[in-house]
Amino acid sequence: MRIAALLRQAPIEFARAVYGINDCASGRTDTMAAREVARAQRQGVSVTEERAEQRARAYLPTLGQEHCPRCWVVYGHKCPLRFRDATDERPETAACHACGAEYATSRD
Ligand SMILES: [Zn+2]
Repeated sequence: MRIAALLRQAPIEFARAVYGINDCASGRTDTMAAREVARAQRQGVSVTEERAEQRARAYLPTLGQEHCPRCWVVYGHKCPLRFRDATDERPETAACHACGAEYATSRD
């Protein structure tokens, strides 16, 4: 279930990366997506639509070693996700300490 939920995030992160690339290209550098792309570029990672799409397609988390979809799609890095158990108020989530992404990973 976690894997399925995370796999659904890869194309969303790809779409977000494309927004970021387009925002940067047109000077809208203050959007969340643009800031992520700019941060990656400062770290020497070139974020292109092709690379992001390839990585989104290649995103394949393994059970017990799930990595962050955003870090993978934008940076090509495998950052481990930390899971937080569901409570009465909120579903289980997976959080990335590197980029701050948070994903709901349980069926709602
Ligand atoms: Zn991340």
